[in-house]
Amino acid sequence: MCGVFGFWSKKRPVADVCYLGLFALQHRGQESAGIAVTDGMHIDVEKGAGLMAEAFKNRLPSLKGYCGIGHVRYSTFGGSSFSNIQPFLASGADGFVSLAHNGNLNNALKIRSRLEEKGLVFQSTSDSEVMLNLIAGASGSAAEERILSSLAQVEGAYSLVVMTGGKLIGVRDPHGFHPLCLGRSEDGYCLASETCALDAVGAEFVRDVRPGEVLAADGEGVRSYSLPSRGRRSSCVFEYIYFARPDSDIDGLNVWEARHAMGRRLAREYLAKHGREGADIVVPVPDTGIAAAIGFAAESGIPYAEGLIKNRYVGRTFILPEQKTRKTTVEMKLNPIRENLKDRRVVLIDDSIVRGTTSARLIELLRSAGAAEVHMCVSSPPITHPCYYGIDTSIRKDLIAAVASVDEIRRRIGTDSLHYLSLEGLLEAVRDPRGGNMCVSCFNGRYPTDVSECVIEPDGSKTGGPSC
Ligand code: AMP
Repeated sequence: MCGVFGFWSKKRPVADVCYLGLFALQHRGQESAGIAVTDGMHIDVEKGAGLMAEAFKNRLPSLKGYCGIGHVRYSTFGGSSFSNIQPFLASGADGFVSLAHNGNLNNALKIRSRLEEKGLVFQSTSDSEVMLNLIAGASGSAAEERILSSLAQVEGAYSLVVMTGGKLIGVRDPHGFHPLCLGRSEDGYCLASETCALDAVGAEFVRDVRPGEVLAADGEGVRSYSLPSRGRRSSCVFEYIYFARPDSDIDGLNVWEARHAMGRRLAREYLAKHGREGADIVVPVPDTGIAAAIGFAAESGIPYAEGLIKNRYVGRTFILPEQKTRKTTVEMKLNPIRENLKDRRVVLIDDSIVRGTTSARLIELLRSAGAAEVHMCVSSPPITHPCYYGIDTSIRKDLIAAVASVDEIRRRIGTDSLHYLSLEGLLEAVRDPRGGNMCVSCFNGRYPTDVSECVIEPDGSKTGGPSC
């Protein structure tokens, strides 16, 4: 999880641009936020807990400088302490290095112990600081060279914005797990996790950063370098299913479009089993289920209807770390429209079932509002394996589809029938029918990297430490 943003300008202070860019990426992390800005001589950092507005105390940051990076954080495991708030800062060959990271490393522990043996003291428990210290301690005359040699040692998912020597540098890991794109405005260059952030700051989309690419921007323009290849590209399919904003384009595919195609395909699979007759309306779980529900309704001919209204002032359900809090958040967040649901046979569309807590509560809500039947259709396959690349899809025993059959899940969440999109259907919707370019390890357990270091202990703790 997490969102990163960076801006380099020829002529204006960039702190407020970073603020606006991160604001557009708020859905990628609500736990904390930070911005680091430099004028080439000094660096200033401002960080805080909570949403952007809270972290920056309802005002634009007063940091001065022409180059800035920022981060919104969603920690996937533990560690929501102040010391884990990014961007991180260390002194290095060009005075300082500052870094913000989206992803999750798979060999951070080994590298960390090696660095600690050499006497390095870590300020946080985050794997992002491992990359920061590698870069800060690397030899080489140019920042790009130091970054390339450092990152050649790490394995896993990392979309980075780095600031050093007055340059803005963007990096996407060789598998291209999480998105990162390059934009341009009249007076500078921009890097962002998603294209919606470019729109927010008035920057024009130039292109996606390629897997394994290091892009450096400064007064001389933009230069591109390559990290050693690590085998096939493995873009995270969950970015399309749930995580990214529907108005963003990732690697040439619009997220809304992808979700709509998932809904159409899901409808075809549903109709093949059940026909059109058993349902009166198609209802989305807002917001992530909307595009898929529109696609489902268009394909099936079953009318689309709103049945749940979302209170927009409550954050994404998973964001609150405790299971107990999560349950009350669902209730605070969604309320049924009784008029639309009463005596109707409802096809309920949600993007995913992870632990099953949300679905069970939603079905209760629909029934209490008078729905005659509830058929749940999920626009992704059963999540059977944890993610080690930065998406919070939990430890294995908490994933309902890892421990229960589809029929058992149906029974537990209390729905009349339950349908998941097939993996083939999903891959077709994201235009990768042979699955060569997508990471779908949460659905099939085939991890594209060595994840043996990321083992989850029986007590639920993760040996790898927090990351984003
Ligand atoms: P549950 O099955 O109760 O664990 O929650 C599933 C709901 O959480 C779905 O409605 C998704 O929209 C949402 N969701 C799916 N994946 C994630 C994630 N990694 N982080 C936060 N929310 C998620």
